[in-house]
Amino acid sequence: MPGFHDPQKGAQRGLRRRQVLKLGGALAAAALAGGRVLAAPVDTKARIVIAGAGAAGLAAASRLAERLTGATITLVDARKQHYYQPGFTLIAAGLKPPAYSVSPTGAYVPRGVEWIEEAVAEFDPVGNKLVTASGRAVPYDFLVVATGLELNYGGIAGMDLALIGRNGIGSVYAGPDQAAATYEEMSRFADTGGVGLFGRPATEMKCAGAPLKYTFITDDTLRQRGMRGKAELVYAAQNTTLFSVPIVSEKVRMLFQDRGVKVAYNHVMTAIDPGRKIATFATPNGPVEIGYDFTNVIPPMRAPAAVRNSPLPWTTGPFAADGWMEVDRSTLRHKRFPNVFGVGDVAGVPKGKTAASVKWQVPVALDHLVATLTGGTSTAVYNGYTSCPLITRIGQAMLVEFDYENNLTPSFPGIIAPLEELWISWVMKEIALKPTYISMLRGLA
Ligand SMILES: Cc1cc2nc3c(=O)[nH]c(=O)nc-3n(C[C@H](O)[C@H](O)[C@H](O)COP(=O)(O)OP(=O)(O)OC[C@H]3O[C@@H](n4cnc5c(N)ncnc54)[C@H](O)[C@@H]3O)c2cc1C
Repeated sequence: MPGFHDPQKGAQRGLRRRQVLKLGGALAAAALAGGRVLAAPVDTKARIVIAGAGAAGLAAASRLAERLTGATITLVDARKQHYYQPGFTLIAAGLKPPAYSVSPTGAYVPRGVEWIEEAVAEFDPVGNKLVTASGRAVPYDFLVVATGLELNYGGIAGMDLALIGRNGIGSVYAGPDQAAATYEEMSRFADTGGVGLFGRPATEMKCAGAPLKYTFITDDTLRQRGMRGKAELVYAAQNTTLFSVPIVSEKVRMLFQDRGVKVAYNHVMTAIDPGRKIATFATPNGPVEIGYDFTNVIPPMRAPAAVRNSPLPWTTGPFAADGWMEVDRSTLRHKRFPNVFGVGDVAGVPKGKTAASVKWQVPVALDHLVATLTGGTSTAVYNGYTSCPLITRIGQAMLVEFDYENNLTPSFPGIIAPLEELWISWVMKEIALKPTYISMLRGLA
């Protein structure tokens, strides 16, 4: 893979690699603390089915396997490869190979948990069962839905997965290979200049900071190659802000101003013409076309079809149209089907489509599930915690953490200031996040 470089170089600000690793390890350990389950196992004959074996599903399986004895725990997911998605940004920055984000799902399936290697085709929460793609009915006493979300590339006219890596089109979201192909296109752009076009969909989305990160990464790559003067960068915001938390939005606005990134507010990409290299945006004043030499296309996102077409989504309100699950935002328990929980990206809650949210959602949901098993109740509450290491240049990031009320909730007060561009926040993303994430899959974080 051409163009790989050492992110530590020039970014260590005087610290040696050994110290970096030690610090990263200490932060990861700190992040692990407090999430560990130490309660005595509960004996039960309950049948618990987990739909989806990504970040949330595997974390749920690991924790349930530890908390219960005698239960039948079943994971249902066709995907044999696990994707560490936060790594996609690093791959698309040219810092990691695609393999960095890929590992076998089976490596994280705990002993004693059955894995049905099929997709769920149909949820039947009235009949307390689901049906797999091959038509197999799987009954349950409790269901944990963790199917993540669907990237709806078809929602942008003219867009197709096969276009990623050609004609200036990138998309860091689609997968590890597409993230690497995005780097190739971005790198070509950084050598030639022109218009770099960025943006995000108007729907709910996972890691809402990722589109901003990639704008900053492209800006930095251009600067490193002495080509920034030959490029114009445009960020198309889906509404009148750059981030859902006002203070963070303002900070990003100032950084964009500082770096010369132009912002087009109220612009939502609706179509792309790869031949003419023109994207069309819906705006309050009608359709607007913007030409590009490189663009990072982020598709609209929605719940997977099996969830969308089931009785599980919200039927009214802001989460209904895209099929997000109707769960209580504090407990992740379904509002109409109390033996069903929804965790991770599929949950219809106001914030938090991140792995960091998964880390805090799963223990809360399972605490309520296990309490119900024992005839008790749980007081565990998910407060909307989500976190985003917002890369602002290679080697620097802002570690933005917040809750449902937009309160900033720093995990390392006094060490990591949330709205400062720090190398230590970069270390969190580049070194500490992955081990913490893997520990979460194993139920240890
Ligand atoms: C580019 C990018 C950058 C990111 N950066 C960060 C970051 O810096 N920090 C952070 O915390 N988070 C980040 N995230 C977000 C994070 O990766 C996700 O929020 C997290 O993976 C959500 O976990 P999940 O289990 O809900 O979904 P996933 O991990 O996506 O897993 C969903 C699983 O459900 C399965 N599935 C789908 N449909 C069905 C079906 N019908 N039947 C059975 N199984 C099904 C899928 O095959 C998959 O295995 C980033 C994501 C991206 C794409």
